[in-house]
Amino acid sequence: MKDHCVFCQIVVGTIPASPIIENDAVLAFLDIAPINPGHTLVIPKVHIAELSGLDDELGVALWRVVLRIERALRSSGIKVEGTNLFVANGATAGQEVFHSHIHVIPRLPDDGLHIRTEPGSQPSREELDWVAQKIRAAL
Ligand code: AMP
Repeated sequence: MKDHCVFCQIVVGTIPASPIIENDAVLAFLDIAPINPGHTLVIPKVHIAELSGLDDELGVALWRVVLRIERALRSSGIKVEGTNLFVANGATAGQEVFHSHIHVIPRLPDDGLHIRTEPGSQPSREELDWVAQKIRAAL
């Protein structure tokens, strides 16, 4: 547990949350400022700032819970026409709480959530291949 981390405090119960599911490694609870009703955050119980800090086992455990919640939302009776699964890693990417988490966001028409407002330009195949090679080399 890290002092002053709001999500660590939710894990130990010192600040309130509306829980959805919990197991040894993972906790899911409702976002306090939802894009739409049902907006859920899935977190590791241990304090890990960004997703890149998770080992494979914990990553799989998180993803398993994300998938369960995504399915449950659709059969819950809550209005859901689609979903986005979203992760912000680092302040540049919009991360505000530095305890890693995956957003499961129910989507409705015209709900105002825009991840991108302008279409991207299309790079050449050579540029795409150069970038793909950089990533492959880092795997
Ligand atoms: P981000 O770090 O940008 O991925 O987003 C952090 C998310 O945590 C935001 O959607 C907040 O509304 C949410 N959040 C912050 N504090 C709480 C809290 N006490 N309980 C539930 N959700 C929270």
